[in-house]
Amino acid sequence: MMMRQERSFVEIDLKAFEENISFLKGFLSENQSFLQVVKADAYGHGGQEIAKAAEQMGAVYLGVANLEEGKVLRLQKIKSPILILSPSLSSEIEEIVRYELSPAISDLGFAKALNDFLIQKKQSIKVHIKVDSGMHRSGVRIEEALAFIEELKTFSQIEIEGIFSHFSSAESDSKESHRQEKAFEELIGSLKTKPKFIHLSNSSAISKGYAPFCNLVRFGILSFGVDTTGEFSDKLKPVMTFKSTLSQIKEIKKGEYVGYNQSYKAAQDGLYGIIPVGYADGYDFMLSNRGFVEYKGQLSKVIGKVSMDMITMEIDPALSPCTDDIVILLGGAKPETRAENLAALYNGSAYELLCQVGRRARRFYLYEDKLLHSAPLARRDFVAEDFGDSKLSRVIGDALAQRLKSEEIGSLIYREVLRTFFINKDRDIHYRKDFKHHIELSGDKEAKYFIAETVLTYRKVLDSDYFIVACAASDEILRAYFLKPDVEYRWLLDKKLDISSENFELKSVKINDIQLNTELVLGEGFLEIRCSHQELENLKGTEAEFEIITKTLYPKDTHQLSVFISEITRGVQISLKYPAYLNPVEPVSIFSGQQKNPQIQRLKDVIRLSTKSDEWVFPLSGVVFTY
Ligand SMILES: *Cc1c(COP(=O)(O)O)cnc(C)c1O
Repeated sequence: MMMRQERSFVEIDLKAFEENISFLKGFLSENQSFLQVVKADAYGHGGQEIAKAAEQMGAVYLGVANLEEGKVLRLQKIKSPILILSPSLSSEIEEIVRYELSPAISDLGFAKALNDFLIQKKQSIKVHIKVDSGMHRSGVRIEEALAFIEELKTFSQIEIEGIFSHFSSAESDSKESHRQEKAFEELIGSLKTKPKFIHLSNSSAISKGYAPFCNLVRFGILSFGVDTTGEFSDKLKPVMTFKSTLSQIKEIKKGEYVGYNQSYKAAQDGLYGIIPVGYADGYDFMLSNRGFVEYKGQLSKVIGKVSMDMITMEIDPALSPCTDDIVILLGGAKPETRAENLAALYNGSAYELLCQVGRRARRFYLYEDKLLHSAPLARRDFVAEDFGDSKLSRVIGDALAQRLKSEEIGSLIYREVLRTFFINKDRDIHYRKDFKHHIELSGDKEAKYFIAETVLTYRKVLDSDYFIVACAASDEILRAYFLKPDVEYRWLLDKKLDISSENFELKSVKINDIQLNTELVLGEGFLEIRCSHQELENLKGTEAEFEIITKTLYPKDTHQLSVFISEITRGVQISLKYPAYLNPVEPVSIFSGQQKNPQIQRLKDVIRLSTKSDEWVFPLSGVVFTY
């Protein structure tokens, strides 16, 4: 299996996450919903994946630490409301608004800057007020909160959607927690208008039943199956398992030392193993001579000091050890390797251990032992707008220049171009799939024009309840049609022909077998056919099957016919059927994509060019048939 080739890897069990969430939801009353905290890449579990899983489990909000985390989630197409829990900076306002994030507000200067920006933009924003009920970290001091709220209400573009506070020691100090709970409840009681969301509890507070007057709770560490309360270890399953591979097995003699500074001395002759993971991988240095790993279902001690890139473990020779065996460093079935118990060995924080562990490791996402996908941890999605245009063009230019020499560079640009398409401002870009364009030329050998019948079929997410099929009389008008997003098909009519519905006929136009209604507009140099149907409104946002059939005339004396790909398309087939007397017909293809050369098939009187069905083809691709 692929995982075995990794030096170390992290498995994320999304089923366990679901079960933990279900367990936590058991503590909620009917009018309470939950916000899933996904800060720090969801405590190292992967922000996007956990956000999606939480959405499916009913999360109404997501919580991140800062703008950057929220932005990455938006670029990864996460649509839920996102609350930035920590204070934001004025310099972040523009992007907070652009990415539709909700900031926590605890500073009037920031609120004013935000409001001024929004007035300029004629936009508004939802915010949550952060109140300091006794933790004395961020937030408005609770005794100043009422005045703060009155002031905040005067800002025209700011909608107070929520108010929240945070416990300092919900998992351990019930006296202090009750004091905070009471103070916050009093504040809420004195509000004339209550915001939509009122929240105080983190996950351990929920499990202890604090703050029933709130209608939103914030799930964090317990949802990842790390039991900081000491009460639910049998109910919560660790979502993360960090594993590595035994890379060397060695003998040690009684009295010899292992590792830096001779901190471990062998009491007798024996075996020990090297695991290629160290504190640079997030395996805490404090676990030197303290930690445990699970090997072949048994616990083994970490011996000697944790190095930057290696740790050493004792090995029971009776286990017939082998290099390449898997070792579990965190998570798994044994209590000793649970994050909360490992962290307790050095009086450390389980939160910190989760966030830091597996820094170099690929994450594998599993659901009931089924591998969903994997992703490197140190990822930062390519964001086109992080690069200036000139830099981006230089990168693409250089890469293209090298492409002829290196396949690898070719695939790199291919990937980067794809991402540029998908992760740009136009987040909802829709592409065409299974694109088939068939053209059939027929007619008398003596005639000046072919009869050209074209059948175009493809699938695409419908984003509008109408589209246009256009016929242009000049290159200039045709080019303008390429830029109009509502034009699905365009044709250039020979200049000598009159633009009319006889010379360019839309024979049939269907979406999912629904015959669309058509409306013709004949103008100076163009014919536009507006295709629509009342049913399309219901199909919006779904993937639909398009079929467009036209009949027109095509001049013989041009001796060539071009077909262009005008949108990003996945899976292309272009074919031309021609009268036998035309032979030979030659296709010249220009395909920008991973493969420059589509597959060419010649049947009797038909030439067909195709790419694999999962291969992307970029605009400015096409084929010219010469005859
Ligand atoms: C991190 C965080 C949480 C989650 O806390 P857990 O103890 O992990 O449940 C909740 N609220 C705020 C404001 C946080 O910053």
